[in-house]
Amino acid sequence: MDGRHPVLTGLACRCPVCGRGKLFDGFLKVAPACAACGADLSAADSGDGPVVFVILIVGGLVAFLALYAIFTTNWPIWLHLMIWLPLSVGLSLVAMRVFKSLLITAQFHFKASEARHDD
Ligand SMILES: [Zn+2]
Repeated sequence: MDGRHPVLTGLACRCPVCGRGKLFDGFLKVAPACAACGADLSAADSGDGPVVFVILIVGGLVAFLALYAIFTTNWPIWLHLMIWLPLSVGLSLVAMRVFKSLLITAQFHFKASEARHDD
């Protein structure tokens, strides 16, 4: 791993083995192999794990901010919709990529068996 902390590697969306190559081949599709070290990443699967974190963290954050704004401002409803809906979608997309990378990096770091099945 070249001495990089697994959390930093996950946040940077880099290869969980060497920390240099790109983890993703596209927005959320995991690359079949690392371009830098050749590690096989085809079995890496984070399952539904990232979605749980996105729902809990982004949903909780946006819900809190939206409720705070509703109770402390006199903004019209269309303004709330124009702010909170795009913010929810944007944060969810960014967070999904980061949490997927973090979970796959954690699988490799802790040698989770699900990351190495060949079925
Ligand atoms: Zn690599």
